[in-house]
Amino acid sequence: MKRKVVLLLTLLISTLSITYAQTLKVGAAIRVITPNPLLPVSGGIGTPKAVQEKKGDLFARAMVFERGNTRIAIVNVDNLGWSSILGNKSRALIKGIPPENILIGATHTHSAPDAYGFPDMSGKSFADLNYLDWCVKQIADAVNEATSKLEPASLKIAVDEAKGKIAYNYYAPQLYDPRCGVIQAVATSGINKGKPIATLVNYAIHPEVLGSGRGILSPDLIGPLYDRIESKVGGIALFMNGAQGGMVTADTRLELGKEGMGGKEDNTWNECIRIGELLADEALRIIEKAPILENPPIYCTSRNLELPIDSEIMRYILKKSPLKYEFKKENYVTTQLNLLNIGPAQILTIPGEALPNIGFYVKRNMPTKFPFLFGLTNDAFGYMLTKVDFNSFKRYDYVSRTSLGEMTAEIYMEQALKLVKESPKPE
Ligand SMILES: [Zn+2]
Repeated sequence: MKRKVVLLLTLLISTLSITYAQTLKVGAAIRVITPNPLLPVSGGIGTPKAVQEKKGDLFARAMVFERGNTRIAIVNVDNLGWSSILGNKSRALIKGIPPENILIGATHTHSAPDAYGFPDMSGKSFADLNYLDWCVKQIADAVNEATSKLEPASLKIAVDEAKGKIAYNYYAPQLYDPRCGVIQAVATSGINKGKPIATLVNYAIHPEVLGSGRGILSPDLIGPLYDRIESKVGGIALFMNGAQGGMVTADTRLELGKEGMGGKEDNTWNECIRIGELLADEALRIIEKAPILENPPIYCTSRNLELPIDSEIMRYILKKSPLKYEFKKENYVTTQLNLLNIGPAQILTIPGEALPNIGFYVKRNMPTKFPFLFGLTNDAFGYMLTKVDFNSFKRYDYVSRTSLGEMTAEIYMEQALKLVKESPKPE
């Protein structure tokens, strides 16, 4: 009899501990990475431009998921692009999460300090390495704090069209993806029970309303997006960009119907607020009616992706940058490609700015109704065009020149979809 009771108790305890260990937990945290004093800002290749003021703050924002033995971190940084050279330094400082389960993406604001170390014609770079080192630590601190705050959570997940004047394709107005993906973690216990811990918004857009030429340092429209979400529902807001290349940008057109170039645009902070708040409101509308997912499973895997550097400009930048890119193979870059399943959603990362047709193709080959693409994540190696688009239309001269080469997107699509095939389907 006594043995039976002990056996029953042991069974009960092990069942309870399995249940407990398999509880989904989420934590989130942020760090301000606005330089003080302000630094010149970069919107791409060339010398960063001096600023006189700031509009909003720059942030590193982290969301950590845990279930059973799996831990995943998703981080967004308010910058044009955030290389794995910097990302790996943060990964080394992050405790309790394997480096390959840490996704670090850039929002692509065009009004933040140079994080590439763009060399000028003489090979000189103006990036502030001390500032970048400080950011590396802030990113790691944000993730470590998010891990320390892990608490039981349920999720809401939805993907739908964001309506209104938010984005368009500057090269061909209708050719963009209006889908906005949202993942919201809601606390299931404690004093915050029922309240959002974090809301992640995934949408393809160039945050370049202000750009780098106005003497302003800013997260651009992403700043007002964070503020709006947090003031409306609480918790922490994150933004992961999508396939926003060639040339999906903020719809600042004052004269609708005109083909971008030559038309009047509203490049003001007020316009950042209008678009950021509209996208935030749309994201909250999209997620509001989504069903609550109790304790959904999570999955994370990664592969190394090797891409040839065929472009002379890209070779010059990568070789002269004071960040000191490491080349395992001459004229090749290696980057981390991630696939996540978060409940019924699947997420793939893109190490650059994929054109929207690539985004559509990859999304429709993902085995889910909730496809997410995290652009400019883990690395940002310029534009990614199909070999057919490469050096085709005159309009594609710039995006072809500032891509690694003709095969970048082809290799990416093949490897990304291979990873999809080799991974379990989301549940
Ligand atoms: Zn861009």
